[in-house]
Amino acid sequence: MAKVFAIANQKGGVGKTTSCVNLAASLATLQRRVLLIDLDPQGNATSGSGVDKLALEHSVYDVLVGNCDLAAAMQASEHGRYQLLPANRDLTAAEVGLLELPNKEQRLRQALGPIRDSYDFILIDCPPALSMLTVNALVAADGVIIPMQCEYYALEGLSDLVNSIQRIGSLLNPNLKIEGILRTMYDARVGLTNDVTAQLRQHFGDTLYETTIPRNVRLAEAPSHGMPALVYDKASRGAKAYLELAKEVLVRQRRGQRATTIA
Ligand code: ATP
Ligand code: MG
Repeated sequence: MAKVFAIANQKGGVGKTTSCVNLAASLATLQRRVLLIDLDPQGNATSGSGVDKLALEHSVYDVLVGNCDLAAAMQASEHGRYQLLPANRDLTAAEVGLLELPNKEQRLRQALGPIRDSYDFILIDCPPALSMLTVNALVAADGVIIPMQCEYYALEGLSDLVNSIQRIGSLLNPNLKIEGILRTMYDARVGLTNDVTAQLRQHFGDTLYETTIPRNVRLAEAPSHGMPALVYDKASRGAKAYLELAKEVLVRQRRGQRATTIA
């Protein structure tokens, strides 16, 4: 049965999509069966996976509103050895459209039911908002991976996010955990980075991934080629960091070391 992780942070530009695409590719390289769900109308995970978001026959939107089943909308990523449920701007309509549908928070969870046994990991790239789309991701997920930059304001935003996850968890998905906090665009030479890390460790303990993702230009370039960094430049520091993260995710899973329980 697949582990379902939502990659979420309502703050924009913190590395959600970069983490989702590169973790998907890294887990696939480690022989895991991976499905990446793009749940952001920006469609960045779709184009970053080498799929033309303007030429989709079906997308995650169709799945959420019941126009087609998940298998019909899924396609292989161009280079990454993982499957993709793509998105584009059509998904904006789902924000409102979902409100009128029964089980509006459960649509994604229900759609995943029949295919959960076919994957080891399902990663959901969330939009930068605590919207109905993100609620669907959090209801479908076993755990939330929170990418963040080590800045003062990021820490403030983090407590809002954790409170929202707690609320959604207690109302709609009591088993939801914070799977891990991931430090992205990390530079240990910056003093504040170390202060923030110390505070994260104090609040979140082992939930904080040991692996950090450095600021690396290859990670920023790869999406414009529709590739994960592991394909674009597998020797880059960015690609290696995400491969390390994938290994840490697997070790954590084997140990059953599921961190902070939200109750
Ligand atoms: P949004 O909230 O808009 O969905 P996001 O949280 O998904 O954004 P990304 O799109 O992954 O964030 O990253 C934001 C920008 O920073 C992108 O241009 C991306 O290429 C770049 N970026 C992400 N991680 C790194 C990194 N470790 N090193 C260098 N650039 C990075
Ligand atoms: Mg994104």
